[in-house]
Order: sequence, then C-alpha cells, then structure tokens
Amino acid sequence: MIWNKRVVEIEGTEKGADHLVLEDTVTGDRSTLKVGGVFIFIGFRPNTGVVEGHFEHDAAGYMITDERMMTSIPGLFAAGDVRSQLTRQITTAVGDATTAAIAAEKYLTALREKD
Ligand SMILES: Cc1cc2nc3c(=O)[nH]c(=O)nc-3n(C[C@H](O)[C@H](O)[C@H](O)COP(=O)(O)OP(=O)(O)OC[C@H]3O[C@@H](n4cnc5c(N)ncnc54)[C@H](O)[C@@H]3O)c2cc1C
Repeated sequence: MIWNKRVVEIEGTEKGADHLVLEDTVTGDRSTLKVGGVFIFIGFRPNTGVVEGHFEHDAAGYMITDERMMTSIPGLFAAGDVRSQLTRQITTAVGDATTAAIAAEKYLTALREKD
C-alpha cells in the first residue's frame, strides 16, 4: 500500500505501461513507480435503467429481491450483479440465476394452474 500519493501520469514504451509518475499529496514531491500494467478501478453502478423507478432498491440502486430472487415487481426476477447483496462474484451470480430460473418456472406454473 502506498499512502498519500496521486497518479499524475502513466508513462510507457511501445510494449505498454512502464511506470507511473506519483505526486505526494502532502509534500507535492514527485516520484516514479515501475509497473507491469495498470488496473483502474472506476467503481460500480447497477445497470437497472430499463426498470428504474418501478422496483424496490437499496441506497446504491441495486434491486432488492426475496429468497426466490423475485423483485418488488411480481414476476420480475433479478440475479447477479444487479441484485442487492454482499458479494458480486461469478459464483454468486450463477447461484442466483439457478434460483431465479427455478422460481420463475414455479411462478408461471402457479399462474397457469390458477386460471
Ligand atoms: C474487472 C473485473 C474482474 C472480476 N473478477 C472476478 C473474479 O476473479 N472472480 C469472480 O467470481 N468474479 C469476478 N468479477 C465479477 C463477475 O464478473 C461478476 O460478478 C459477474 O460477471 C456477474 O454476472 P452477471 O450475469 O450478474 O452480470 P454480467 O456478467 O455483467 O452480465 C450482464 C449482461 O447483460 C447485458 N446487458 C446489460 N444491459 C442489457 C440490456 N438492456 N439488454 C440486454 N442485455 C443487457 C450485458 O451486456 C452483459 O452481457 C469481476 C468483475 C470485473 C468487472
């Protein structure tokens, strides 16, 4: 962990990124850091625009679901990264999707039997 530093430049060669120019946020001094690559973390924003404003969501905009992955809109199921939960990983997305698919099938069957 390198504290109190701001990346001011990414310098490279024809092969790609080579080093960063860092500025100390306290003293203003500049230094360089040799790197093999750069990964920029831009944060998260749930891609829920299609149904925005129509479903219950948490403060960050992630869809709230019940244990069947059903949202506050009956018949609309959500799985994976758009769902309000602790982790956003492939393994949890796959598990969510399995639950959502089975729950959706049961939901449709129940609707059909009601008619
Ligand atoms: C840089 C990075 C590294 C990661 N590393 C790991 C890791 O090492 N291990 C791990 O377990 N997880 C990792 N993850 C997280 C993992 O990729 C996600 O948790 C997982 O892909 C979520 O699956 P998903 O199906 O919910 O969403 P996504 O994989 O994002 O799939 C959503 C799909 O919906 C499509 N889509 C969006 N809007 C619309 C629309 N309106 N109409 C039609 N299609 C639409 C998108 O194009 C996309 O294909 C990483 C994520 C990132 C960004």
